[in-house]
Amino acid sequence: MVEPDLKPTDNHIAKGPPVPKLGFKGGIHPTDHKAATRSAPAVRMPMPARLFVPVSQHLGAPCQPLVSRGDLVQRGQTIADVDAMVSAPVHSPVAGEVISVNLRRLLSGSTALVVEILPDEHQDWDSWMLVPESDDAIAMVRAAGVVGLGGAAFPTTVKLTPPRDMPIHTLILNGCECEPFLTCDHRVMLESPDRVVAGARIIADIVGAERIVIGVEDNKVDAADALRAHAGSDVEIFVVPTSYPQGAEKQLIYAVLGKEVPHGKLPAATGALVQNVGTALAVADAVQLRKPLMERIVTVSGSVVTPANLIVCLGTPLRDLVAAAGGFGPDVGRVIAGGPMTGTGVADLGMPVVKGTSGLIALTTSQTAPCVNGDQACIRCGRCSDACPMFLQPFAIGIYANIASWDGAEHFHALDCIECGSCSFVCPSRRPLVQLIRLAKHRLMERGAKL
Ligand code: SF4
Ligand code: SF4
Repeated sequence: MVEPDLKPTDNHIAKGPPVPKLGFKGGIHPTDHKAATRSAPAVRMPMPARLFVPVSQHLGAPCQPLVSRGDLVQRGQTIADVDAMVSAPVHSPVAGEVISVNLRRLLSGSTALVVEILPDEHQDWDSWMLVPESDDAIAMVRAAGVVGLGGAAFPTTVKLTPPRDMPIHTLILNGCECEPFLTCDHRVMLESPDRVVAGARIIADIVGAERIVIGVEDNKVDAADALRAHAGSDVEIFVVPTSYPQGAEKQLIYAVLGKEVPHGKLPAATGALVQNVGTALAVADAVQLRKPLMERIVTVSGSVVTPANLIVCLGTPLRDLVAAAGGFGPDVGRVIAGGPMTGTGVADLGMPVVKGTSGLIALTTSQTAPCVNGDQACIRCGRCSDACPMFLQPFAIGIYANIASWDGAEHFHALDCIECGSCSFVCPSRRPLVQLIRLAKHRLMERGAKL
């Protein structure tokens, strides 16, 4: 890798010491499609008739239900938990009655127990069952069920306890939101900048970070200004060029610190901890307001009548979000949960919103490229390699994955892929590269390989 130019530039410095401008290798510049919702304040959507709250909404050990049919639950009540380090409890977002606890298919493709709740007619949105008070902020974050809200839904408490031999000196909040269409993080930064900064300080205090940096792409300067108004001398607002996948953990660390995460190591090996801005807000809510994570902002956009940023109770069926946005517009070809680059195709609009659901995007048929399972030949144009921010050769991994040669895929470092989708986006042969690479990673991990 080319040594970074560490000369400070003038467009990034808000508070604190000068910071460098470091672009990552590769990446793409898709049309951002954010205009429809970037100015739409987050509004609470109408109460759904039923909620379907999965007992497991995170990476890690699934929770066990703590309620059963006929139980009355309060808003904020813990309804599922498990005694495991990598896990996060689940809370009822409403007061109501448990109708059933049954297995259902989730957006992730997995099956989990789901608590079906009939909400009371009247809800007090300003109150909830408080998270138990504690001197230990990490205990409160866990009790509140906080997970990474950028999409991965990794339990936050795990990231707040990095290995002892990897001390954290810099907390980086990710406010890049580089995925097209999504504006939920943008609204969090604009509408709750004080709470985001408060959450950052709590996290930095927990992990002992001396430096706090909030990274924001330069297509969201109003968010950077809002944060700046609440940042003291201890918080740097770092405006980075708009480029996908700028918000990926490794790319953001490189932009801020000029350090690469070593192959096979945790990001903490660089001394940095990255958290999403929405996660910081959830941490502040957990510790200062003793509020569990039971709702979130979801961007509903694309071919819908009224694109919106909605405050959504976890467990709300996706079709209710579509209805709250006025219904589908014309020519919907595919519906995606999350962003169009890394999100999941929605097979059933009855599936519920979970903690990691940042968006619901209705793409038109012209926006959904046909995926041909590798039928179209690679023309060796090299565009996928140029676009890959991880210095990989996606065409080669794709070829090996296509013939189930997992050794070949490993040889070309399939496990280093961050699944950003940039290679698929630029491929003129429409090869489903990221799907093939994801399959290769899956098979390699089944054989015992570690990310
Ligand atoms: S190979 Fe992986 S990291 Fe590289 S562009 Fe494709 S999806 Fe992104
Ligand atoms: S972009 Fe597509 S056609 Fe070009 S080298 Fe990569 S896989 Fe082959």
